[in-house]
Amino acid sequence: MIKPYFNRNDKKRISLKWKWTIGATLAIFLTYTIFTVAIFIGFRQIMLTEETQDVKEILVGVTNRLNGGSNALSKEKVFLSLSGNYTFSALELGEEYDQRNLVYGQSSNYQDTIFAKMNEEGVVVRVYSPTSRLLFETEPKDIPFKRTAQLLIEPIKIKNKEGLQGIAPIYSRVTQNLIGYVQVNNEMVNYHQMSEKILWAIGGIGILALVFSAVLGYLLAVNFLKPIKKITNTMNDIRKDTQSTSRIELDEGNDELTHLSIVFNDMLDRMQKYIEQQKDFVEDVSHELRTPVAIMEGHLKLLNRWGKDDPEILDESLQASLQEVERMKSLVQEMLDLSRAEQVEIHYKNEKTAIKPLVLQTINNFKLIYPDFVFNLDDDIREETDVSIYRNHLEQILVIILDNAVKYSSDRKEIHVSIASDNQNVDIAIQDFGEGMTQEDTERIFNRFYRVDKARSRYKGGNGLGLAIAKELLTGYKGTIFVESVLNHGSIFRIKVPIYFKKIEE
Ligand code: ADP
Repeated sequence: MIKPYFNRNDKKRISLKWKWTIGATLAIFLTYTIFTVAIFIGFRQIMLTEETQDVKEILVGVTNRLNGGSNALSKEKVFLSLSGNYTFSALELGEEYDQRNLVYGQSSNYQDTIFAKMNEEGVVVRVYSPTSRLLFETEPKDIPFKRTAQLLIEPIKIKNKEGLQGIAPIYSRVTQNLIGYVQVNNEMVNYHQMSEKILWAIGGIGILALVFSAVLGYLLAVNFLKPIKKITNTMNDIRKDTQSTSRIELDEGNDELTHLSIVFNDMLDRMQKYIEQQKDFVEDVSHELRTPVAIMEGHLKLLNRWGKDDPEILDESLQASLQEVERMKSLVQEMLDLSRAEQVEIHYKNEKTAIKPLVLQTINNFKLIYPDFVFNLDDDIREETDVSIYRNHLEQILVIILDNAVKYSSDRKEIHVSIASDNQNVDIAIQDFGEGMTQEDTERIFNRFYRVDKARSRYKGGNGLGLAIAKELLTGYKGTIFVESVLNHGSIFRIKVPIYFKKIEE
């Protein structure tokens, strides 16, 4: 059997609050991580490109410095050409340096930059003869060398870290012969230092972001769950006492949860009203049935005692009992009608009825049944008009009101019916000149089982359900009904039914 939720004592249950907190924290933190990792990778790529560019510039710069002669490079030549500059004693370079710079269109600033780059930490520049003999190195280091036919830059591992190695052949500008090689090894010290710094920064900010997102997630969860807590409290109140008037407290907001609370409160109101109505109905019905049952019981007892031998009592009691059975039958039928009238909205949504023929036919029927009555019809509707209501239901409403008009008429046996319409509704008025009722009664006669004079109404065969059925039906079709009445002078029942279709004459 499934345990009711409120009885579950599941110790492992994680509350929604913590689920949301963890969820929000992870979401915020994950977003941060993805962004920073993407930025970090992009940044490293840019730095790597710069480092590669530096290696290339050194290779090209040194090549240009050494390729002026026609013979293979010698230690002295390389030393003379590079070491002076390498230590930045520009004066030692003299005329040759300036001429070369003019020839190759490179400013001394450019050369300065090259030598500055050669001088950077972790950068080693070496020059080799065409036979791979080491002629010059900026720093003594054990570095492998391989010959290449073209400028080549490739990633290598230096001290277990990423590094770059560039090798370029030096061809004489005069003879185009190979006169040596230049090699650049770059440990990318800057690159590694920057990467490390950025990683630390990302890590530090990451921890802050984690704390921040956890706090933010918690606050968000608490805030989100506040209305849910209120809903749960109200539900608990109602669970303990179905009659409780406890409702969800509404706050200022206008979000989905506020909307849910409004709908929930409304549902509770309706449900309680419905339960109340059902209770009243059962009480009313039992009360209404008690009288005929008591009458029948009385007669049956009478029959039991004396009726068997007395044909007069026998006949009278049987007649009276049959009458009560008839009354109960009509009561049951009317209760059924009333309960069906409550469903109209769902089952008869798109029904329509031509108003004029129906009113005319109903009045004609009444003329036949009550020949001593005068029925007048005042018809103000010129065009064919359909109303949004199922034919039998409109007929039922008219019969209930006309029946009452006949039932509660006194000396003046006259009934006036008028029909008129505006753009939206058809108005039907049914007037009698009978006993009428007080203002107080006009407000109550549409309630179930309400009768102005119980005994008289009962004598006339009324159960007090007719007008309740008429009102329920009209409400279902978005129509209205109300009454104007003057005691001892008569009543006018006014009905409004929405128009379905109106053919306008040209
Ligand atoms: P009933 O079956 O008793 O007529 P209704 O619901 O049709 O039940 O009417 C409720 C009560 O309203 C009636 O008992 C009667 O007292 C009063 N009533 C209805 N129609 C009229 C009328 N035309 N003139 C005076 N009283 C009326």
